[in-house]
Amino acid sequence: MSELVIKNLFVSVEGVEILKGIDLTIKSGEVHAIMGPNGTGKSTLSYALMGHPSYEVTGGEVYLDEKNVLEMDADARSHLGLFLAFQYPVAVPGVSVANFLRTALNAHRKAQNPEDKGISIPDFRKLLRERMQLLEMDPSFAGRYLNDGFSGGEKKRVEILQMATLDPKFAILDETDSGLDIDALQIVADGVNAIQGSERGILIITHYQRILNYIKPHYVHVMLDGRIVESSGPELALRLEEEGYEWIRNKHDA
Ligand code: ADP
Ligand code: MG
Repeated sequence: MSELVIKNLFVSVEGVEILKGIDLTIKSGEVHAIMGPNGTGKSTLSYALMGHPSYEVTGGEVYLDEKNVLEMDADARSHLGLFLAFQYPVAVPGVSVANFLRTALNAHRKAQNPEDKGISIPDFRKLLRERMQLLEMDPSFAGRYLNDGFSGGEKKRVEILQMATLDPKFAILDETDSGLDIDALQIVADGVNAIQGSERGILIITHYQRILNYIKPHYVHVMLDGRIVESSGPELALRLEEEGYEWIRNKHDA
């Protein structure tokens, strides 16, 4: 069993304090959702957890299985088993989806075992084919340049494909639902559910509760102005769907 522990995390961006003491523990097998209005620091949390250099941690601690994540660069965090599906995936013209995924997978294998010679091409093709079927992706995707000219929904699918290939211990999905129509959302959610299990913890970051109809969280947290102000079970997401964020704002302004 793995555990991701975030303790009293403070993060600044360009000198402005955005996260003001986040506490959150996620165990493998658990699905947590963080909901909150735009601009409250949800993406800041995901970037800070992955080690983006623009997000300066000014206080607090993050541990994955008692290893100090904040001392590691983004590569090492990824090799340790952290994964972030970006809200805004970037295009990499010239690098095919297949090449990108194989390079990433081999870097992970080498980090686990320096002797590793990398996955064989036939084994990789088989793995990729299986994972793409799971996400109902056309095989031609593998040969296309990463995210180059991809629709919003296609980019999100590639993020999940990457997650399904790298098999991380903890996956953070930042607004994976945005830009997806209902059919695409269902497919992406099915893909996430198919690889969700007792071995993996998932943090779903979302503004809307819609995705939580498809990927059921065990815990729902609300972030307001850089703090988690409310934590509860899935019923909290339904209340936010019906009543918006106003009642939570009122409760915590008071
Ligand atoms: P959310 O994901 O909840 O919508 P963000 O974490 O993206 O919120 O942003 C929180 C705040 O931090 C916003 O006020 C935003 O303008 C600011 N911020 C985030 N990233 C940057 C950045 N790279 N440069 C400047 N300001 C940023
Ligand atoms: Mg965001």
